[in-house]
Amino acid sequence: MNNNKNALFESIAALEGALFIDGQLRKGTGERLPVENPANGQVIGHIAAATPDEVNDAVSAAHRAFQTWSRELPRTRADALHRLGDLIAADALHMAQIMTLEQGKPVNEAKGEVLKLAEACHFYAEEATRIHGEIIPNDQPGFQSMVVREPIGVVGAITPWNYPAELVGWKLCASLASGCSIVIKPAELTPYTALAIAQKCAEADIPAGVVNVLTGKGSVVGQALVDHPYVAKIAFTGSSAVGLHIQQSCPQVKRMSLELGGNCPLVVAASADLDAAVKGALRRSFRNCGQICIAINRIYVHRSLYEAFIGKLGAAADGLSVQNGLEFPAADLGAMASAEPLNKTRAHLADALEKGARLVAGGKAPEGNEYAKGHFFRPTVVADCTHRMLVMTEETFGPLVGVAPFDHLAEAVELANDTPYGLASYVYARDLTEIHTLSTALDYGNVAINNVDAGIMNAPYGGRKQSGVGYEHGREGLLEYFHFKHVRLHHGVGN
Ligand code: NAP
Ligand code: MG
Repeated sequence: MNNNKNALFESIAALEGALFIDGQLRKGTGERLPVENPANGQVIGHIAAATPDEVNDAVSAAHRAFQTWSRELPRTRADALHRLGDLIAADALHMAQIMTLEQGKPVNEAKGEVLKLAEACHFYAEEATRIHGEIIPNDQPGFQSMVVREPIGVVGAITPWNYPAELVGWKLCASLASGCSIVIKPAELTPYTALAIAQKCAEADIPAGVVNVLTGKGSVVGQALVDHPYVAKIAFTGSSAVGLHIQQSCPQVKRMSLELGGNCPLVVAASADLDAAVKGALRRSFRNCGQICIAINRIYVHRSLYEAFIGKLGAAADGLSVQNGLEFPAADLGAMASAEPLNKTRAHLADALEKGARLVAGGKAPEGNEYAKGHFFRPTVVADCTHRMLVMTEETFGPLVGVAPFDHLAEAVELANDTPYGLASYVYARDLTEIHTLSTALDYGNVAINNVDAGIMNAPYGGRKQSGVGYEHGREGLLEYFHFKHVRLHHGVGN
């Protein structure tokens, strides 16, 4: 582990103050901002706040590179993506440790995320060679209409800290496959994972300027990408508030995909397999400390199963381990990423208890010196919740879930849809009528039934209402990176 640790800190030191512009890691000239290990509060390094000149250098490099990258053969772009996927997979453990050090999630979970990014590279490599247009019938002879797909241009990608590899990666892979170039602004909390991915792009011989990474504050560097006239599309994942701000503040018309917050319900219907529902609820409420846009925030259980469900979920939550994710790679939960989501979790819990909720599990930080300086919290279940409580109406983004009973399915639907969000929803049921009723009535971009993995790489993933616009994953996700051009040809044959 010690050698391993030395290599890890050497990698972080090599990225100290680094920006990735035009194919090179270079030291930024701007202010230095500390990056902390959330498990113990130690500063692990610094990033450079990119200056306006550096933002301009990166966007200009991307703009130049787009002219050639967009004209490469799809096969060439696919080969680059396959090389990138192989390099990332080969170094998955090391990249995972970098992620754990800045984000807190246990190494095994971080490694799973890195490997999923590698898979995404291969998926998009295959898609790159299957991008084709359409021929549209005309109502006059002698004409042919072709719809051609052309890459949009420079993509400005702005990403959050909860999935530092995948949320950068989906935008990166779609850009590379489509022929776009990209400038990435990762979250201030998790910059090193993005810079490590940039290093892999260089190793994979992806041409200079096609991929760039700028660090710094979202309100400055992220906003500079939104404002820049050469950035043709913003691909944003983050909170609804910042997504709305980006939409409102953008000074030009440009394409946008906004993957925003959620407040995701689980409905456990009368016909549910109780143990399967408990297992699903446990995973999707507490994985990554609940810091997932598609985390289960609130659970509605048919009254016939209510007490049994609460008892089992509480016991299962109490059985989860919370540990330093670097020292204990197989821990169930690591540290939360920062004080912000931890404080929100505490506030939502206090609000629920004050308004009459029943504490079933957790409710406090784990005890012991090893936890004293980190952002740790026990997985927490509260029952008898109502929509007067924040835990049921706002995204907590922490290891806290609220449970409430229902009597009729229509009531469950009304409660589940009683939110401005529409990202993902979950159902456990075995009765076909219950399954059909819920899958039709739930006003969400994703409905997972008898499972809790709402997103897969080859199906579209996106939110409704305040959860966003646009899609990632699947063909639909890739098409977000293209213009459609209608070419109407008068060839005169058959006139
Ligand atoms: P956030 O505060 O909205 O930040 C997201 C990104 O936007 C960060 O890189 C941030 O930079 C940047 N940013 C902040 N202000 C900006 C501005 N004025 N202009 C441009 N960029 C700006 O979100 P977060 O706290 O990192 O992440 C948690 C949120 O993300 C949750 O609401 C979660 O539901 C959502 N999320 C959604 C999905 C999805 O697929 N729908 C997936 C994951 C997470 P700094 O880090 O420097 O502030
Ligand atoms: Mg934030």
